[in-house]
Amino acid sequence: MDLLTVENLEVVYNDVVLVLKGLSLSAAEGRITALLGANGAGKSTTLKAVSGLLAGEDGEVTAGQVLLAGEPVQRLTPEKIVRKGVFQVMEGRRVFEDMTVEENLRAGGHTRPSSEIRPGMERVYGYFPRLAERRHQLAGYMSGGEQQMLAIGRALMARPKLLLLDEPSLGLAPLLVEEIFEIIRRVNAEEGVTVLLVEQNARAALSLAEYGFIMENGRVVLDGPSRDLMNNPDVQEFYLGLS
Ligand code: ATP
Repeated sequence: MDLLTVENLEVVYNDVVLVLKGLSLSAAEGRITALLGANGAGKSTTLKAVSGLLAGEDGEVTAGQVLLAGEPVQRLTPEKIVRKGVFQVMEGRRVFEDMTVEENLRAGGHTRPSSEIRPGMERVYGYFPRLAERRHQLAGYMSGGEQQMLAIGRALMARPKLLLLDEPSLGLAPLLVEEIFEIIRRVNAEEGVTVLLVEQNARAALSLAEYGFIMENGRVVLDGPSRDLMNNPDVQEFYLGLS
């Protein structure tokens, strides 16, 4: 069953720029789905349309719909969408730099009952022992990799059903990318969280995801099981750097 279905979505920025031009995709419940494509294809815009964050950027859904477990959500506020279990980790590790690790995590859990905060933190520290060691440190002083871990940890505090990850590998050394992808795999396997993963790193994303969609210029141009995509000569040439 699909937890998320996006149908023929059109998004316009500033009333003029049409960025999504009839985009359709889905994310199967309990699975990891990858959304790939070149810079500017519209991947971040797609995630923001799902999480309701377009309005803050003068973006608007002008056609099509976003269905969460069959229910249209494209007119809801970001706050209501979070309460429905959708949480987006934005590109560029947007943690609260002036707050400690623990305060960031607490902020991530603000929609949850207070009794869940402490166990939620322990759960996050279980995935990221490094965050536990630095729990009283200001987030702004941590390395890029640690901030990415914190951004994901903060999202987990909200107990998402659907986790939207925008380029979690951006700017990280290969070993850290592996570490973060392994945590995403565990969160999915151990908690059944559905993941929609936007990535430039197509190889890593397709190794992790079961299914992938490839976007060009505001539309999906190809989709299929990750294995099929990895064996597709066009994908190999344009996205995996093989030819
Ligand atoms: P990237 O990997 O570079 O983030 P992307 O596939 O995620 O690329 P988007 O960030 O969704 O692409 O951008 C798609 C198009 O929309 C680009 O042409 C971009 O310039 C434009 N765009 C994005 N955000 C805005 C905005 N707030 N206002 C106007 N145009 C925007």
